[in-house]
Amino acid sequence: MRDQIRTSPFFREALLIDGAWTPADSGATLPVHDPATGEEIGTSPHAGGPETTRAIEAAQRAFPAWAARTAADRAALLQALAADIRANADALAAMLTLEQGKPLAEAKGEIMIGAAYVQWFAEEARRVRGDVIPSPWADRKLFVTREPVGVVGAITPWNFPFSMLARKLGAALAAGCTVVAKPSEFTPYSGLAWGVLAERAGIPAGVVNLVTGDAPAIGKALTDHPDVRKITFTGSTRVGKLLSEQAAKGVKRVSMELGGNAPFLVFADADLDKAVEGAVAAKYRNSGQTCVCTNRFYVEASIHDAFAERLAARAKSLVVGSGFTEGALQGPLINEAALAKVEAHVADALEKGGRLLTGGRRHALGGTFYEPTVIAGGHAGMTVARDETFGPLAVLIPFDTEAEAVSAANATEYGLAAYVYTRDLARAFRVSGALKYGMVGVNDGVITTEVAPFGGVKESGMGREGSHYGLDDYLDMKYLSIGGL
Ligand code: ADP
Repeated sequence: MRDQIRTSPFFREALLIDGAWTPADSGATLPVHDPATGEEIGTSPHAGGPETTRAIEAAQRAFPAWAARTAADRAALLQALAADIRANADALAAMLTLEQGKPLAEAKGEIMIGAAYVQWFAEEARRVRGDVIPSPWADRKLFVTREPVGVVGAITPWNFPFSMLARKLGAALAAGCTVVAKPSEFTPYSGLAWGVLAERAGIPAGVVNLVTGDAPAIGKALTDHPDVRKITFTGSTRVGKLLSEQAAKGVKRVSMELGGNAPFLVFADADLDKAVEGAVAAKYRNSGQTCVCTNRFYVEASIHDAFAERLAARAKSLVVGSGFTEGALQGPLINEAALAKVEAHVADALEKGGRLLTGGRRHALGGTFYEPTVIAGGHAGMTVARDETFGPLAVLIPFDTEAEAVSAANATEYGLAAYVYTRDLARAFRVSGALKYGMVGVNDGVITTEVAPFGGVKESGMGREGSHYGLDDYLDMKYLSIGGL
């Protein structure tokens, strides 16, 4: 598989600056590993500040012409790009599975939603409208227009290395912005592939630039440069805060999609089968490595044991294996550090009185594979109640009243996604209204779609990606007063 992917037309081990694929100035590289085997796939350039600055300058030079194109023109290029992604979904998915580890079917899903974001923003590009404001003066007319913010710095994580860039690049390019993007060092190839896709679609040199390497140095170059007018970041709250602070010095706009600590509330009146299916989807997708993955299950005490038993049976049935193994539903974790965190959370929960129903240890496959785990009888004193595990661990915490469940669900500095299972319509509205989260799934465990606004509140971030709101973050409003009429 490795050799097949290295010869794919989308495979690059170079930076893309002003339309040229180049190594890091120093020639230094970082190895990239297959998380399923530990085998080295290839390398990515270990670039830093100087290369990033040149990429920003290229993006700034490309900006006026790109912004001046008609929306229909940009939309046509993005439509072509989306079609190319769809036509090459298998090759792109294989590359994604190789470097990230997720099952091939999930990888294909990520590629297809990536195409859907680009398609969506191609359509939205033609709907960036202004406004005419009724003037309080007879001799003046007042207008509002919307203009692209300028050069955008985009930094993305390893868990969705393709679709996270789709959300950012799709919106930025549709709005008329140019971009310098930095994919994660763990999964650079699905990011660098965007450079190939952009070239193939006929997007001009300098509009999309890609750098990899020293993350703090690249981040600093992006936040310090006066021509970068916006930073869009998906990743940890720690790095998000750091980049927000750095960006504040130049009063740059920021969009931050940060950590979550998603609660999943199951009331006694819920359809238990559907709740279990929703729980499996919301917990174990990408082996628990998504920012909207459930971290804490709150289950009404009267059904706690029944729900726990069914969830454990389903978790046990999930086939663990390399993403390329037929039927595998749980791939490896991204690295040893991720595995160590899951182990620490499991040990803590068991030490503090949790009951292990299934899993609880490294998988027999070795490497970074971990068994899908369910622990019942959890409580607020466990680490998992506060800290995002980002792995295949489900801890169930019983509750007695609706108020108690809502208050426990909100007792976190995070506010990205929450899930509620109930058949009581009034409760569905009451509870979803009371949850301090940017996104709530009621009787729905998989909420991500390009047509809806994705994003969080509190320390989970700011700004929304996807939907017809998704372009707002890439547009500045300009008020125009025409006098002397
Ligand atoms: P995760 O825990 O999901 O890996 P990170 O926030 O560490 O989240 O990483 C997300 C992205 O942020 C990656 O592309 C990573 O290289 C980048 N990153 C990490 N540290 C910094 C930094 N100091 N400045 C800019 N980017 C950073």
